[in-house]
Amino acid sequence: MKFYVRQSEIVRLLSDLGVSSVNVRDGWVSSCCPLAKYTHVSGSDKHPSFGISINDDGTSVWKCFTCSNDSRNLINLVETYAHLSGRKPLIAGRLALNEADQAPPWDVSEPILSAYKDVWSSSVKKPEVALPYEILSLFPLLNDVKDEDYATDIIDYLTDERMISLDQIFRYKVRASKADDLIVFPFTVPHREISVLRVRKSRTKSLFTINPEYVGQPWLRFPNLSESGAIFGADIIDWSKPVFIVEGELDALRLASLGNDNVVAIGTNTPTDMQIKNLCGFHFFVGLDSDKAGKEGAQKTIGKIRKFIPGSIVVNLDWGVVNCKDPGDLLNCEQVERVVSAGRVI
Ligand SMILES: [Zn+2]
Repeated sequence: MKFYVRQSEIVRLLSDLGVSSVNVRDGWVSSCCPLAKYTHVSGSDKHPSFGISINDDGTSVWKCFTCSNDSRNLINLVETYAHLSGRKPLIAGRLALNEADQAPPWDVSEPILSAYKDVWSSSVKKPEVALPYEILSLFPLLNDVKDEDYATDIIDYLTDERMISLDQIFRYKVRASKADDLIVFPFTVPHREISVLRVRKSRTKSLFTINPEYVGQPWLRFPNLSESGAIFGADIIDWSKPVFIVEGELDALRLASLGNDNVVAIGTNTPTDMQIKNLCGFHFFVGLDSDKAGKEGAQKTIGKIRKFIPGSIVVNLDWGVVNCKDPGDLLNCEQVERVVSAGRVI
């Protein structure tokens, strides 16, 4: 007889991952996502988006509408949890492993035990790319604080002066800081957590990256764009469709506000190797600034895409075609169409 986890065991597995309250309906055990603290931008899952399928005759899968795009097996869930939390959930691990091996749960023989240990040793150690939640909480989502005075100032600036829609501000999960009047842009790794916070002082052009000194904790070490390869918008766009790549966060927000909402920003005019390796797509519109530095950056970007994503389709865009320096200057979507139709396929 094969062993598959049943409903009660799914609940037990989840409780080992820190989930105390579940809902059983339509063949699923649903709950708040046990990975939310690490993988959801808000750090929580207020409207439960996570579920494990109940399948007494086969393998159960988990899915989270916020942090996983596809269904995965329970070993993957437990491994991911262990990676992110630094804690090895023993009961959950045993249940998931037994199901994967389809071994009877009562047969805790040596091979099973050693295979169980392998769950952890086979885990590839990934570089630390997440910012601690305590740091993120210093920079609340504009969506969460939109009625506060400092937030309405920032929102007014973005909507009135930069012509960015409220929908896109919230969709790209722009954050703010009360203390310094900062607009805070989260840079993420696809399917993973926030790694880097790039900020812009409201109404001035000063741009910088949040570092441990800034938050008064110089003993910490934060990931940077080189090692994490984080990108603005990586967590929300559809990588299966053509992706616009631009320099600045406000450029991305403006382009998205004009209806081209599959856009990411690399934050500079020279992407790091990791940023390019993190591009999950296969079809790109490279639209860096139309000044000299931007054009040189575009050549480097295209070269790196060629190198790391062979076979991909790349179109180079020049905003100068409509007399704009970057997408932040665009007046309407007709201009976008003109730039795209003048784009050069590389
Ligand atoms: Zn999730």
